[in-house]
Amino acid sequence: MKHNRKGINTICTHVGEVKDEQFKGAVSPIYMASSYAFEDVAVKRYPRYFNTPNQEALCKKIATLEHAESALIFGSGMAAISHALMAFLKAGDHIILQQTLYGGTYNFAVTQFEKYGISYSFTEGWTAEDFEKEIQPTTKVIYIETPSNPLLTITDVEAIAQVSKKYGFISMIDNTFASPVNQNPIDFGIDIILHSATKYMGGHSDICAGAVAASQEHIHTIWESSICFGGSLSDQTVWLLERSLKTMGLRVRAQNENAQKMAEFLLSHNEIDAVYYPGLESHPDHELAKRQMNGFGGMLSFELREGINPSEFMKNLQLIKPSMSLAGVESTMLLPVLTSHALMSPEDRFKQGIKDGLIRFSIGIEEIEDLIADIEQALARIKSKSVLA
Ligand SMILES: *Cc1c(COP(=O)(O)O)cnc(C)c1O
Repeated sequence: MKHNRKGINTICTHVGEVKDEQFKGAVSPIYMASSYAFEDVAVKRYPRYFNTPNQEALCKKIATLEHAESALIFGSGMAAISHALMAFLKAGDHIILQQTLYGGTYNFAVTQFEKYGISYSFTEGWTAEDFEKEIQPTTKVIYIETPSNPLLTITDVEAIAQVSKKYGFISMIDNTFASPVNQNPIDFGIDIILHSATKYMGGHSDICAGAVAASQEHIHTIWESSICFGGSLSDQTVWLLERSLKTMGLRVRAQNENAQKMAEFLLSHNEIDAVYYPGLESHPDHELAKRQMNGFGGMLSFELREGINPSEFMKNLQLIKPSMSLAGVESTMLLPVLTSHALMSPEDRFKQGIKDGLIRFSIGIEEIEDLIADIEQALARIKSKSVLA
C-alpha cells in the first residue's frame, strides 16, 4: 500500500505537537487547565474526556507511530488494557487470552472477569490453531502479546488477525515489548494496539502511562466507556511523555543493537544454559519475528548454568540494576519467579516454561562492552566465592 508516512524518527520528533502560536517556542506549551470555556456545545474540553490540547497532540503522535487512525492515552498501561477490554466485553461474553501474558494482565483476567459475568480461556500455546480451539459461541475478543513476557515467545500477528476477522471478533495486542519502533500490528490487521507507555515510550523510568491505538470507530467505543472509568493522564505527564517520544526511535534502535550483541554473548558463554531472544537464529520463531518485526527489541531472558544461584549472581552486578520495571535507558534484571510472576501458581509457571532460575534482562543504552564486563565480573566473583567456601 502506498502512503506518505514519514520515517519513525521524523514522526517521533515532529508529529503531534501543540504549536506555540503566541511565543513561537520550539516545544509544546503545557495547558494545565481543567476548565475551558465552551467553544460550542459539542466540544467540551476536560482532562477526563481525553481532549485537552496536550492530550490531543500526544494522541496524534501515538496514532501516527502505530499507523492507526486514532489513539487514547491513560494513567497507566493497566488502565489502557482494562479500559479497552471493558469497552468491548459485557456479561455473557467470552474472551480468549494468550497463555503467556504480562503478569498484571493475567491477574486482571483471573481476579476481575468473573465478577462481571465475563468468561475467559487461556490458550495452550500461541499458534492460530491454539486460539481457534478455544472459540465459543459467545467469544467476542481475542487477546495476544508478542514478544511475550518473560520468555519472548512470538505469536503470528497476521494469522491471529485472520482468525479474528473470520469469526468477527475484536483482536487486541499488547505491543509494549516491541514498541511502535519494532512492530506495527495494525499493518497485519489487528484491531486494537495496547501499550504500557511506562516502558519504551517513556523510556526513562520516570513516567507511568498507557496508550491505545485503533480505528476512529474503535477508539470512540473505548472513549465512551473510558470517560466513565476516568483513567486519564495529567497534562504534565502527557507533556513529559511527548518529550520522551522524541527520542524513542533512537533509544529503541540502540537497545535492539545492544540486545542482539548481548544475546550472542550469553549464548556463547559456558556459564549460561539458555538464552531467549527472537533475534537469535536459535529462537524457534526467528523467521516469524523477522517477518513481522522491524527490530527484535531490547528484552531477553536467560538461565544460568545449573548450580549458579541467580540471586547471588544479580547481587554481584555493579552496573546492571535489579529492578521491577523495564525498557528504561538503564539496563535492569529481575527474577520473574520472585517479582513479575510471583502471583502465578507454580504449576502455571511450570506450564509456561518459566523456570525458577530464569532471569529477565531489559537492555539499556549503555556501551555493550561495559554491560558484558559487568556480567563477566559478577560470574567471576561468585565462582571465586564458591571455590573458597
Ligand atoms: C508494564 C506492562 C504492562 C502494564 O503497564 P503499567 O504501566 O505498569 O500499568 C502491560 N503490559 C506489559 C507487556 C508491560 O510490560
